Amino acid sequence: MFGKLAPAIWVLFALAVVTFATPSVAQDYDLVIKNGRVMDPETKLDAVRNVGIKGGKIVKITTDALSGATTIDATGHVVAPGFIDYHSHGQEPFAFRLYARDGVTTPMDLEVGAYPVDTFYEYWEKEGALLNYGTFVSHVFARMAVLDKVDPGGRGIYSGAIGAAMKDGAEFKSKVYDPLDEPAIMAAVEEGLKQGGIGISYPIGYYTIAGSPEVMSVAGLAHEYGVPITSHVRYLAQIPPSGYLGMEEMLTVAHVQDVPLLLHHIPSNCLGLTKQCLDLIDGARARGVDVVGEFYPYTFAGTYVDADYLKPGYEKRLGIKPSDIVVTATGEKLTNEKFDQLRRDAPTTDLLMYTMKDEYVAEAMKRPGVIVGSDAMPYIFKDGFTGGWDTPYVTGKGHPRGSCTHAKILRMVREDQTITLMEALSKMSYEPAKFLGPMVPQMRKRGRLQEGMTADVTIFDPDAVTDNASWEDGKNTLPSTGIPYVIVNGTIVVKDSKVQRITPGVAIRNAVQK
Ligand SMILES: [Zn+2]
Repeated sequence: MFGKLAPAIWVLFALAVVTFATPSVAQDYDLVIKNGRVMDPETKLDAVRNVGIKGGKIVKITTDALSGATTIDATGHVVAPGFIDYHSHGQEPFAFRLYARDGVTTPMDLEVGAYPVDTFYEYWEKEGALLNYGTFVSHVFARMAVLDKVDPGGRGIYSGAIGAAMKDGAEFKSKVYDPLDEPAIMAAVEEGLKQGGIGISYPIGYYTIAGSPEVMSVAGLAHEYGVPITSHVRYLAQIPPSGYLGMEEMLTVAHVQDVPLLLHHIPSNCLGLTKQCLDLIDGARARGVDVVGEFYPYTFAGTYVDADYLKPGYEKRLGIKPSDIVVTATGEKLTNEKFDQLRRDAPTTDLLMYTMKDEYVAEAMKRPGVIVGSDAMPYIFKDGFTGGWDTPYVTGKGHPRGSCTHAKILRMVREDQTITLMEALSKMSYEPAKFLGPMVPQMRKRGRLQEGMTADVTIFDPDAVTDNASWEDGKNTLPSTGIPYVIVNGTIVVKDSKVQRITPGVAIRNAVQK
């Protein structure tokens, strides 16, 4: 009897599975990315997979079919870890919209940092952040607060503190080293570490007067608090005192204080000595210094009139002519007369300077252990530096690297094959995460497309992804294209290439100490 009934029971059972399985599987994932080419730079996985995301985490990567509340069909697209950029000076919603279109999920300004640190985090908590945010303690703004009695309000370049300090002597960049100033500066930086700053920034190229003993002492705090340091090094030149010498200084600091070090934009500081600087970094690493170099894929740099390295005599030091420098807002090429007039009347004017050659950029891109950092500057609008959520893209002015560094790298990989796609993704996600991870637990879960990791994901078309912004007026802030989906903490922030007005970004911050 049983034998005769068995087939009928099986049919019923099978139907039951079909009938009930679909709704129960549908509840398994908040979001499924299907049929994408999943690339993970840590494990080197490079294969078509389905990705299941739930509760902000990547919970499944499989060849099996998955279904979720929302599904993205990523056929023909790469599914990569969200890009991490430690050189994102633009810290307001307009800049974040552009970063998102460029595939960046964690844009942090670790070169300049912020001071006070708690007001930096308060800004984003109040504003709400599309992407993840975080900061180092800014040595320069702590110094400015102490020596020039100005309040950068945690908003650094946006705060007007530089201009206020410059009206009154700018002691942060003019006062000769006095050991008696050190305790107050140290106390200010330490306060920032207690407020959860995830490292200490030394953009010392902008205040070259700072005493070496002070730089060394402050790095001792980084050791004490178990955080890294970064530097835009003291010199920008290819003759002594050169960028190479500036890097030697910071490598010594990192070695003596036993702290990890990120050296920003190597070609920009080292110019004709780029290869030698990269060799220096490799040599230090081989001797046990935890050091990472960085580059952006452009041959022109962004700066401002009163920068120390543009003091008279810069032509010889940088190997350029006045006409190699243009006013960012107008595109006007400088003459000696115009430069003198700006020094007198408008010393904070933003400039672009054509100082690098393609081979310097290629050298840095090819070198293992050198990561990508856009050096995205705050954009200039008619009435200030803040664009916000609704400003049309084309209205911002500034260096195009802030809009599309990462798409440009992906285009260069496609066109020039200087490095592999996996190597490029590594330099834009895994390696930055690996640098901070030992000291910043949240970064151990990012920069990786693996089960158990935070779901920060960038989905791009490798055959079409491209940068669109250029130095030309009206094109500085054109967003990248070919990156249709970006996901932050499991939430879609770019959908069909449109930025969503939502704020799933979280603070990357160390524990706050009372
Ligand atoms: Zn810099």
